[in-house]
Amino acid sequence: MSQMNPKWAEEIAKRRTFAIISHPDAGKTTMTEKLLYFGGAIREAGVVKGRKNSKHATSDWMEIEKKRGISVTSSAMDFEYEGHHINILDTPGHQDFSEDTYRTLTAADAAVMIIDVAKGVEAQTIKLFKVCRMRGIPIFTFVNKLDRHGKDPFELLEEIERVLGIRSYPMNWPIGMGSHFCGVYDRHKSRVELYEQGSEHSEIKFVEVTGAEDPLIGDRAGADLWQQLQDEVSLLDVAGDDFNEELIATGQLTPVFFGSAINNFGVQTFLDNFLEMAPAPTAKKSSIGEIDPYTRPFSGFVFKIQANMNPAHRDRVAFLRICSGRFERGMAVKHVRLNKEVKLAQPLQFMAQDRAIVDESFAGDVIGLFDPGIFQIGDTLCLGESFEYEEMPHFSPEFFSKVTVKDAMKHKQFQKGIMQLTEEGTVQLFRTFPMDDLILGVVGVLQFEVLEYRLKAEYGVDIMLQRLPYQIARWVDGDKATIDQMRSRSQIVRDRYDRPVMLFESEYQLRMAVDKYPKLTFHESSLGL
Ligand code: GDP
Repeated sequence: MSQMNPKWAEEIAKRRTFAIISHPDAGKTTMTEKLLYFGGAIREAGVVKGRKNSKHATSDWMEIEKKRGISVTSSAMDFEYEGHHINILDTPGHQDFSEDTYRTLTAADAAVMIIDVAKGVEAQTIKLFKVCRMRGIPIFTFVNKLDRHGKDPFELLEEIERVLGIRSYPMNWPIGMGSHFCGVYDRHKSRVELYEQGSEHSEIKFVEVTGAEDPLIGDRAGADLWQQLQDEVSLLDVAGDDFNEELIATGQLTPVFFGSAINNFGVQTFLDNFLEMAPAPTAKKSSIGEIDPYTRPFSGFVFKIQANMNPAHRDRVAFLRICSGRFERGMAVKHVRLNKEVKLAQPLQFMAQDRAIVDESFAGDVIGLFDPGIFQIGDTLCLGESFEYEEMPHFSPEFFSKVTVKDAMKHKQFQKGIMQLTEEGTVQLFRTFPMDDLILGVVGVLQFEVLEYRLKAEYGVDIMLQRLPYQIARWVDGDKATIDQMRSRSQIVRDRYDRPVMLFESEYQLRMAVDKYPKLTFHESSLGL
């Protein structure tokens, strides 16, 4: 193994790459804006939202996006803060929720989970959390909107544990809530961060205290809240989990922070603590063993493909997570699946406001590559010895439609369009065994509309979509004879790699199948198959 230039190693060690997971409206955009604001990447909070109407979102199929006022595009944002280089991977969350969102998590080294204090753990958070769990990455929780009245903090922690199956360690604890919200008590630093309404851009005010029992807290918060804080903190100390860095690093214990993103309260404390605990890029599994980010030359994998971000180009953009070494503009690298050299001439990095051409990037960063149709999700690019990163997993879609072409004369165009668009990964393609019918599966139903629109606009093909009653897909593994016997049933389809997949209309049906076929295992994703 080669020794790396120490400057490069320093650059890699600075990287922190994470994704925010949450349910729509919990405050992900607001939080992202505040984080970018701290990094000086934007001058004023508010730019991230504006991005939704920016000039990049004007290509024609994105008319859908404009009409609905939501963001189909998503990207990565980066900024420097306190000696760190931070990459935030955007995870689309509204109706445009798609498998991409899951897959983006495979490019993250940590996740930040935002929970609305009034709503608790919501559906989309659960789904995204499961993917993080599967990968064993650390998960940091920010309970948002403490300026509003919400659930009791103990109740929330109990809910996190019950619903998500993860233990928690509150790093700080709220003093009051809603109109009585006074601030948070930092359990580690023994200080109180004071909340002042409308203090969006002002300096954070910390009051050093000797502990929860310090009368200074009583002066600020009043006797009742002070007493309540003392009771609650001593309960946490006695009955709560201990702080354990190893459990945090492996995603078994989540540090919890309370705050109010819109008021910029608790955000910096969160960021500072997060940076202390979140990992720099670590070794990743590959076909030749673990790839160390520091000692290996450049390598990375494509985790997402996006079409037509810039209306001036019909090309796609492939998003690459760099996993080792250093990347330089113009570099010729090995495209392992095609066994071919490709020159990466104009890589893009994604800022909050604009796209910029990058000259140099390091392990941990995400770059966008112009894709004339040579990249697929999961492709590995590398320098030196050839290897491939683990296959990109597919996840269970929740909506299914049979797709046919309206005009049989256009069958060829239809096949080509379907193959190319499903390669981008937001729509999964299945085929039935007996008839070879095409079935599409999506995580968010808007993807059907986008696909229909694009097939028409880009391939000149009209399609018919017939919704099927399924809601769940499971990759089936195990006794081959049993699987072969099941093939005649319409519920069994195969994915693009010919792996058998069983479709179910309900959890109940799935449980029945699990009971009925003890020799088979039913996988929620294709990870590791
Ligand atoms: P996203 O859908 O998760 O990206 O959520 P947004 O960041 O767009 O926030 C959803 C709504 O909640 C917006 O109206 C925000 O202004 C609001 N919001 C975000 N953070 C807070 C907060 O700390 N307190 C209150 N009261 N509202 C907030």
